[in-house]
Amino acid sequence: MSQNHNSQITNHTCDVLVVGGSLVGMTMGLLLAHQGVRVIVVEHHRGTAIHPRAAQITQRTMEILRSVGIEQIVRERSGEQFVQDGAIMAVDTLDGRELAHFIANLNEGIRDVSPCERVFISQSLLEPLLRRRADELGADLRYGTDVVSFEQDESGATATLRHRDNGQEEVVRTPWMVAADGAHSRTRDQLGISMHGHGTFSRSVTIYFRADVTSLLRGRNLSVIYVNNPTLRGFFRFEKPFDSGFLAINALGDPANPITDVATGLTEERARELVRIALGSDAVPITIENMMPWNAEADVAARFRAGRVFLAGDSAHVMPPNGGFGGNTGVQDAHNLAWKLAMVVRGEADEALLDTYEAERRPVGDFTTEQAYSRYVTRTAPYLGTDGMQPVAGDLDVELGYAYASRAVCGAAPPLHEHPSESHGRPGTRAPHVWIVRNGQRLSTLDLYEPRFTLVAARDGARWCAAASEAASRTGVRLASYRADVDFEDPERAFPDAYGIGANGAALIRPDGFVGWRSSARVEADQAVEVIAGALRAMTGR
Ligand SMILES: Cc1cc2nc3c(=O)[nH]c(=O)nc-3n(C[C@H](O)[C@H](O)[C@H](O)COP(=O)(O)OP(=O)(O)OC[C@H]3O[C@@H](n4cnc5c(N)ncnc54)[C@H](O)[C@@H]3O)c2cc1C
Repeated sequence: MSQNHNSQITNHTCDVLVVGGSLVGMTMGLLLAHQGVRVIVVEHHRGTAIHPRAAQITQRTMEILRSVGIEQIVRERSGEQFVQDGAIMAVDTLDGRELAHFIANLNEGIRDVSPCERVFISQSLLEPLLRRRADELGADLRYGTDVVSFEQDESGATATLRHRDNGQEEVVRTPWMVAADGAHSRTRDQLGISMHGHGTFSRSVTIYFRADVTSLLRGRNLSVIYVNNPTLRGFFRFEKPFDSGFLAINALGDPANPITDVATGLTEERARELVRIALGSDAVPITIENMMPWNAEADVAARFRAGRVFLAGDSAHVMPPNGGFGGNTGVQDAHNLAWKLAMVVRGEADEALLDTYEAERRPVGDFTTEQAYSRYVTRTAPYLGTDGMQPVAGDLDVELGYAYASRAVCGAAPPLHEHPSESHGRPGTRAPHVWIVRNGQRLSTLDLYEPRFTLVAARDGARWCAAASEAASRTGVRLASYRADVDFEDPERAFPDAYGIGANGAALIRPDGFVGWRSSARVEADQAVEVIAGALRAMTGR
């Protein structure tokens, strides 16, 4: 740290500077700190989110939170806030007719594919948990601070930070920057990166209110309730003990000719009236607490990287909330980027590894954004028509079954998405979850992996494991290794088939828990080191 000629300006250096410290930026900071990277996270607001916003958290996001040790506390808090395992359905009013059932029980039929469950926890409860863990791990978190400008050159970026309360400025020099500054990302604008897609199709509003809806729920366990009637189209979410929640409204009036600017000029009185109509009851007193305008849009950035700066979260893709994918996709961007940045910062990988971030995450961003749009059209806005709309894919395909094709994956390109139980350890897919026992403890195979490369071998794959440490020292890549029946028990004998490696093979799992390479072959002892080292070199761009 050094003083500049202006005593208000201090120079700092870090490995990664993250612009924006909400759901995605804070996750980025947490994951980088977990990898030992010196990270500064800069957030305009003076604290974590005050509005609930994202709440539907997928199994994949929970797996990521599990890897940094906070799955359990997130589960506990989620149970205090929301009913879990609820349904997602459509009604004409809460007290009225049920129109459609999209998901009967949020976790039914999906427990086999992951050690984690889907949960509902709003950003206002989740972000403090992320913040606390990031803090424990040494991330440098700057609230109430703006990144007011930045410039980049060949070796890094120089950003000016300004504290909102005391006006104090700091200059930060960093080799890498991540823009997690949301849908209206100024960083993205400054980089000249355009957005492409369906554009904005509604000036929506979220109305936060208090009202005791217990009698209207009639004992039903509901997580998301779409409301479609001649007055409005949107969705409800209620918190325990069912005396508060929000109504997001996307359109008003005749569905054949809807008014899609809901936000402009909305008064508190009209908001109360709309909530009353959506509840379908005059008997429940309603207090409006807040109204938040937002744009329903489905757009993806043309590039996820410009020089030393990467886009993540809503700055990279903006999608309607239908399906609950937006925040989760951003968390998964951060997870994909964190290990790559960490390896480059530590000198364990070539900078070329960082090119695989866009190669892997932009197709997923495109696919997921289209899936959110398809759900918006089919659940809320059929008036938009199905021309140019992708068919609705299975929720698990979107949440867990997305796959990567890039230089950081060895093997034929997998399908862009599939049901996770179909992947069978194909390179480019999330490594399958199998319950195992290690040191007497029941674990998931996923618990073996992060945050470094891992070789997992079948029972007769001893040669692969014997070669692992030599391959690691030849490549300079940290590598752990585990063999079935030796380093862990596979009580249900599910592991070899789940990973497609037979009795003699092995797989290399990347630090993000994705399969990078695999072989079902019985390898010759003198070849194993070079095969593993070759795969590690290919994946890390060395
Ligand atoms: C009604 C609704 C319901 C939703 N439900 C879900 C759901 O159930 N599940 C789900 O996954 N997603 C959901 N989403 C989407 C989800 O809320 C977003 O995808 C997610 O919040 C994006 O997070 P982010 O961190 O990328 O961006 P943001 O949350 O927009 O955060 C960006 C942050 O950057 C800060 N910032 C901006 N510029 C600067 C700067 N120059 N300097 C410092 N700080 C800066 C801002 O203050 C802000 O805090 C929902 C969205 C809506 C509107």
